[in-house]
Amino acid sequence: MPSYVLPDLDYDYNALEPHITARLLELHHSKHHAAYVKQANETLEQMGEARDRGDYTRIAGLERSLAFNLSGHVLHSIFWRNLAPQAGGRPTGALARAIDASFGTFDKMKAQMTHVAASIMGSGWAALVWEPMAGRLLTCQIYDHQSNLAQGGLPILVIDGWEHAYYLQYQNQKQAFFEAVWHLWNWSDIAARLQAAQAVDLKIPAAVGG
Ligand code: MN
Repeated sequence: MPSYVLPDLDYDYNALEPHITARLLELHHSKHHAAYVKQANETLEQMGEARDRGDYTRIAGLERSLAFNLSGHVLHSIFWRNLAPQAGGRPTGALARAIDASFGTFDKMKAQMTHVAASIMGSGWAALVWEPMAGRLLTCQIYDHQSNLAQGGLPILVIDGWEHAYYLQYQNQKQAFFEAVWHLWNWSDIAARLQAAQAVDLKIPAAVGG
């Protein structure tokens, strides 16, 4: 069975300065993200051992661990590609039109996303999600890595709101971090994610009316 692996970044650790320092990015990628990858693989190994023994007494805990660690791997993998050096600004084309249709304006989406990130209680993520039933973008405040996401929703832009994402550089000024990431969004990556999400057919009847 294939194991999960830590993906390389498309840029150097110092490439996102001054918004994210090299030391912060290196720790976040090479330690925190790497730990989720390692623990997801270990959890799958433990599930295999349980299966071989026919002993499922710990299966609920293993499922929780898998959801946490694998979701952490997925979200960080999206986050790194959502970011780019000398990026930011505003999206164009189909992504810009989808944002306007769902939120009214780009500025309203930005304000909503920033508030979703800043109001996380404990650890979590803010996500811009394609919701396939109605065919619109929603914001989602994800608890830890895996809870509070409406099923079927596909994240296209994510903001890591865990303390490890900002504390080394921003300390208690997390609002400044949530504003700094808007200088780093790789809109071509996010637009490609929207296009891919819109092409997924979940075989769910589409919402009609309204
Ligand atoms: Mn993180």
